[in-house]
Amino acid sequence: MSPCQVLERTDPTRLTARARVFGVLASAGPSSRAELARRTALAPSTVSAVIAELQEARLVVEPPGDATPRGQGALGRPPVLVALDRAAGLALGLDFGKRHLRVALADLAHRVLAERREPLGADLPAAEAIALASRLVGEVLDEAGARSDEVTGVGMGLPGPVHRPTGELGDSTILPGWVGVRAADAMSAALGHPVEVENDASLGALSEWMWGAGRGADDLAYLKLATGIGAGLIVRGRPYGGSGGTAGEIGHTIIAPDGPVCRCGNRGCLETLVGSDAILASVRDAVDAPGTLPDVVAAAHDGHADCRRAIAGAGATIGSAVATLCNLLNPQRVVVGGDLAAARDLLLEPLADALRRGAVRSAADDVTVLAGALGDRAEVLGAVALVLRRGARLLPVIQR
Ligand SMILES: [Zn+2]
Repeated sequence: MSPCQVLERTDPTRLTARARVFGVLASAGPSSRAELARRTALAPSTVSAVIAELQEARLVVEPPGDATPRGQGALGRPPVLVALDRAAGLALGLDFGKRHLRVALADLAHRVLAERREPLGADLPAAEAIALASRLVGEVLDEAGARSDEVTGVGMGLPGPVHRPTGELGDSTILPGWVGVRAADAMSAALGHPVEVENDASLGALSEWMWGAGRGADDLAYLKLATGIGAGLIVRGRPYGGSGGTAGEIGHTIIAPDGPVCRCGNRGCLETLVGSDAILASVRDAVDAPGTLPDVVAAAHDGHADCRRAIAGAGATIGSAVATLCNLLNPQRVVVGGDLAAARDLLLEPLADALRRGAVRSAADDVTVLAGALGDRAEVLGAVALVLRRGARLLPVIQR
């Protein structure tokens, strides 16, 4: 009997419960039956019945190994976890940066099956970047032994505000080759799957909140400090993008009204002072000056005085801007990601000091500043998370 036949014959009153259980498993990952009952607000007996059906349909499994230890006494025995089977579908994440492209393929049990990272030429036209992405998608599918029709959703990150109604990047993006391109439509046409596009900093916030340094925090800001400067926001346990998708553009906070002209058209934005171009320019005259932001960070760790000073100064400037963000949103955590985050305490200490000086006392007392746990994979994993958060909508209609 096929999975669909098993599920089609079911009592209709069970359908909503099934979608709810499937949805929580997709968005939360492997869970115990008790957790599922709590999160779905269903009776434990209903959850157990739905799990049995989904197991019969081969959509849910009890993962082997450490996740479900057996043979211990009843008291204190860890709960048995259930997870969506690989047959339930696959989630594809894409992350386009100024100079890189990342692709990750995961199952709905939150396991990454294959990943790729490729450098991108500067200002590559969108069509060429999309062609490269299609090739990498083929590679990760091959590596995982998967077919394209097993992919149930595609998430995609782009640096810059993504206009919600059209999926177009605004003209303040650092990817000029993408301006005016309907990114989701173009990528969807190349892959043959619907694609959901989101700002990359918002994706970093999502992945750090689901799996990384933001776990358990209902209110957090993620800072992406790289070529550009952006923030992703989680507000009251939900990603927050504002009315049109532009929330979190902290890089365009005006810090120095008479400062350098920014790509957004204003002067003296935070990004003109602490984006990678500004940091590189500030150390350019130093002996053996590094050529990229990761080089500056590595040199700072090696004790290069100019690089350490540049990073500390950037941390203090960013901390002042983040103080304002803390006054406005009162987050519990500020998670720092992007290339500059690799400087760790060389950046975070001056950043946190400036934040505490600049924010009102209660906002400063409530917030912890820490480095992201997912490193430079945060954005591509966030693109995967964007798919997993679709939850019950990932369950094929015929099986609801
Ligand atoms: Zn600007």
